[in-house]
Amino acid sequence: MPRPIQATVHLPALRHNLATVRARAGDAKLWAVIKANAYGHGIERVYEALRGADGFALLDLQEAQRVRALGWRGPILLLEGVFEPRDLELCSRLSLWHTVHCQEQIDMLAAHKTHAPHRVFLKLNSGMNRLGFAPAGFRAAWARLNALPQVDEISLMMHFSDADGPGGIAAQQALFEQAAQGLPGERTICNSAAVLRFGSAPQTHLDWVRAGIALYGSAPDYPAGTAASWGLQPAMSLRSRIIATQQLQAGATVGYGSCFTAPQPMTLGIVACGYADGYPRLCPTGTPVLIDGVRSRTLGRISMDMLAVDLSAPLAAGRGSGIGSEAVLWGQASAEHGGALLPIDEVAACAQTVGYELMCAVAQRVPFSVQPLDGAE
Ligand SMILES: *Cc1c(COP(=O)(O)O)cnc(C)c1O
Repeated sequence: MPRPIQATVHLPALRHNLATVRARAGDAKLWAVIKANAYGHGIERVYEALRGADGFALLDLQEAQRVRALGWRGPILLLEGVFEPRDLELCSRLSLWHTVHCQEQIDMLAAHKTHAPHRVFLKLNSGMNRLGFAPAGFRAAWARLNALPQVDEISLMMHFSDADGPGGIAAQQALFEQAAQGLPGERTICNSAAVLRFGSAPQTHLDWVRAGIALYGSAPDYPAGTAASWGLQPAMSLRSRIIATQQLQAGATVGYGSCFTAPQPMTLGIVACGYADGYPRLCPTGTPVLIDGVRSRTLGRISMDMLAVDLSAPLAAGRGSGIGSEAVLWGQASAEHGGALLPIDEVAACAQTVGYELMCAVAQRVPFSVQPLDGAE
C-alpha cells in the first residue's frame, strides 16, 4: 500500500468558483490565472473545469505550451512578458499575447521578425513598484509600441498592490484612469481581491479581470473575508491517515524539542504528513486538522514526514479514531465523514502565511487525484 497521503483536486469546486467570480465581474471577460502550475493544482488537471474562462494567464512559456497542447485555441497572456528575444518566436508560433512592462521588451519587439503582429498588454506601474512603466512614461511607451509594425492591438494593464487590504484600490485606480485616458484598447486591472471586493462596478472590472486565488477557493482578504463569505469552495483537499496512536500520561511530551506537554492523560494520533509533503513546519500546537470529519488540532512540532494530532475530540464524538482514520490537513473531509470543511486559509494563518503559498507548495512526492466534474471522488 502506498503511503496514505493524497491531494485531491475538486473540479466541481473549480467550476463553481469560476461562475462565482464571473457573477461578480459583470460582463467583463475573465482570465483564469494558472501560473505556478495552476497554483499547485496542475494545469492539466484543472483545464477541463476552467476552460469556460475567456483566456488563460500565466508566465512560464513552457506552461503556455502545455495549455496549447491541451487543445486551447483561445487567448493566452504572459503576465511577465518575454524574457529574451527568442521568446518572441514562441509567441508568434503559439499566438501568445504578452505583457510589455519595460523599454527592453519594446527593443526586443522592434528587432523581431514576424509575419503576424503581436497583441500586447502595456503595463502601468501604479505603485507596486515591481513591473511596469511609471505614469509619466506610459504614453511615450504606448506611442513607441504603436509605431512598431510588429505590434497589433495594444491593451492596457495594471496590478493593484493593496486590493486585499485596508489600502484598497481607489488611488491606484485613479492613477490608471489618468494614465490611460484617451488611449484606445482593452483594459485590465483587477485580480481576485479587486473583483470580489470592488469588481461589481463596470469602471472597475473594465474589459478583463484576472482571477487566480478565488478560483482555487481561498479568500484573498482572509480573515476579513473567508472562502465561505465569498461563496467559494475549496478546490484542493490535502488528506492523509493516522498510522500510529500513543497513550500519553500527564507530563509526557510530544515530538522534536518536546514542545508540547500533556496536561492530563490523552490519546494522540500520528498522521502521515510532514513538511516534506508541503505542510508548513511553522504550524504551532493547535493548528486545526479534521480527524474522521471532527475538528481536532496538531500537537508539538511538525516533523519531516509526520505530525501529531489530539484525538480527544474525535474519540469523544464516538468516531473510534485510530490507525487508518482520515486526517484532513486542509480542504474537505470525504463524503463518508460528512464533507466537513477546513479552509486552507485557517491553516495558512497558523503558519503566518497565505493560502496561495500552501497550495503552491504541495510537494512532488504527494500523489494527486481528481474529483471529476460529474460528482463522486
Ligand atoms: C497572479 C496575478 C494575478 C492573480 O492574482 P490573484 O490574487 O491570485 O487573483 C493577477 N494579475 C497578475 C499580474 C498576477 O501576476
